[in-house]
Amino acid sequence: MTNKTVANNTVVRVHYTGTLPDTGEVFDTSEGKDPLTFLVGHKNMISGFEEEMMGAKLGERREFTLEPERAYGHQNDELVLEFPKSEFSHLESSGVQIEIGMQLVAQTFEGPAPFIIRAVSEDSITADFNHAMAGKTLKFSVEVVEVRTATDEEINHGHAHGPGGVNH
Ligand code: ZN
Repeated sequence: MTNKTVANNTVVRVHYTGTLPDTGEVFDTSEGKDPLTFLVGHKNMISGFEEEMMGAKLGERREFTLEPERAYGHQNDELVLEFPKSEFSHLESSGVQIEIGMQLVAQTFEGPAPFIIRAVSEDSITADFNHAMAGKTLKFSVEVVEVRTATDEEINHGHAHGPGGVNH
């Protein structure tokens, strides 16, 4: 049985373009790539994205704007941390120049944690672990290119299998 409407426990493939409404800058798009594939209702996407796509039919295009609370949340000051510059010495000794705005990834016990360099001083470095899109209002244009009912296995795993999905 095929389900042609976006709903919980369907696997959806979409083409999308995300822009920053203030500047019109495209921050992410599937244009020229494979469509984005996800299992609906399992927190694989930011909440507002799924909410806005609920009930969309195959071939339907929707445009919507998400405030930070329905996208990547607000900036959390507690995720902006200062480190002694010596902790970055391994990078600098391998020829990497630490600069403001640079994106790096820290290896933590909970897995990789990307961060952005916010400030560099004589002896310390300020690292911002907020999501790069935190605090931003995002505009999306989304077209549904495939909808199908998820298999029991996909629902148990909490992610999509098959093209564009996960292989386990
Ligand atoms: Zn799986």
